[in-house]
Amino acid sequence: MTTRTQKTTRDLRWHNRADLLTRLYLGECTNRNDLASTSGLSAATISNVVSDLIADGLVGENGSQSSAGGRPRSLLRVLPDFGYVVGVDIAETAIRVGLFDWTLEPIAEEVRSVATAQVPPQKVADQILSEIAAVTARVGITPAGLLGVGVGVPGAGGAVIHAPTLGWSAVPLAGLLRDGLGFAPEVDNGAMALGQAEVWRGAARGSERAVTLLLGIGAGGALSMAAGPGGRARSFTLEWGHTVVDLDGPTCRCGARGCLETYIGAEAILARYAATRGSTPFATEGVVEQLTELVDRAVQHREPAARTVLDTTAGYLGAGISNLINLVAPDRVIISGWAGALLCQALLPAIRLIARRHALPYLFELARIEPGELGHTSGTLGAATLPVARLLADGGRRGPG
Ligand SMILES: [Zn+2]
Repeated sequence: MTTRTQKTTRDLRWHNRADLLTRLYLGECTNRNDLASTSGLSAATISNVVSDLIADGLVGENGSQSSAGGRPRSLLRVLPDFGYVVGVDIAETAIRVGLFDWTLEPIAEEVRSVATAQVPPQKVADQILSEIAAVTARVGITPAGLLGVGVGVPGAGGAVIHAPTLGWSAVPLAGLLRDGLGFAPEVDNGAMALGQAEVWRGAARGSERAVTLLLGIGAGGALSMAAGPGGRARSFTLEWGHTVVDLDGPTCRCGARGCLETYIGAEAILARYAATRGSTPFATEGVVEQLTELVDRAVQHREPAARTVLDTTAGYLGAGISNLINLVAPDRVIISGWAGALLCQALLPAIRLIARRHALPYLFELARIEPGELGHTSGTLGAATLPVARLLADGGRRGPG
């Protein structure tokens, strides 16, 4: 019979293991001495836990570094070979499925162009399953061999999805995918997941209170807060795009009027340009290509109409960011997502200037406004952090679901 004391000792052991593994995974520590000094655990406990992590293939010894007046310290690193995770990014215009090793190095990606709001959720789930089968086949495994699958959605994640931009209300996406995968995926808001990825691997590393903005057709956000100085960040969804900037403004996809998204969303920007230039001002098709063309016309060709539309966009973006700065006092504001990357190319100095004009000066001084660093895989990478976060919290216990 398991006594209460035995159970508590075992729980404590897994708790210590999760803590030390996370410190190594996030690059906070690289050797046993660092682990001891930052965790406060005894050298004997560190030694036992690290031996277990090495025996289980999660961590390896990787050379050594000299230490002042002491023996060389062997360097520890997380081993990518431990396994694979998949990140699924459900956006309005495409489903992206990325395969990563568990240290989040990209291995393979499949992109399917699909107007996700126009197809039933069951079909979206079927397409995701077929792309997961395709990316896992490239490394000779089946989905059952994955450490986990994360799915980033617009809207609220969990057991059922509420995503007004997809027309989804209480869609049991995790359940639809579980039947095909054999285990439950982790489903959460895509902007929240991206915020976690920017903290772990991107432009928000080392931040204590970062806001990550996900700009595309919509405008989402995440607030990532460390527990205290040097503490680990937790991320929360911010429905920033649905904050109201004009009571009588255009009707938003959420049903309200004058949301920020109706001014800074990619389709809204393109519509403003079309209104000044006639109905078919673009040589290209597709919202990504057209926003690229618009930025090109403004920056390369200095076309006045394109410049005016982007200046207006910078005004709303800067004002929206100043509201966030005044509300949550971030030390970092990261502008991410495909549209965020394009708009930063053309507008970053203007956005900073306008945010400075509207934010309280002592709060603006705390905040650095920077472009995201994760590139075109940011959506899938963000989603892939979801199963990794669960794995780290479980001390690296294998087996999804
Ligand atoms: Zn709205």
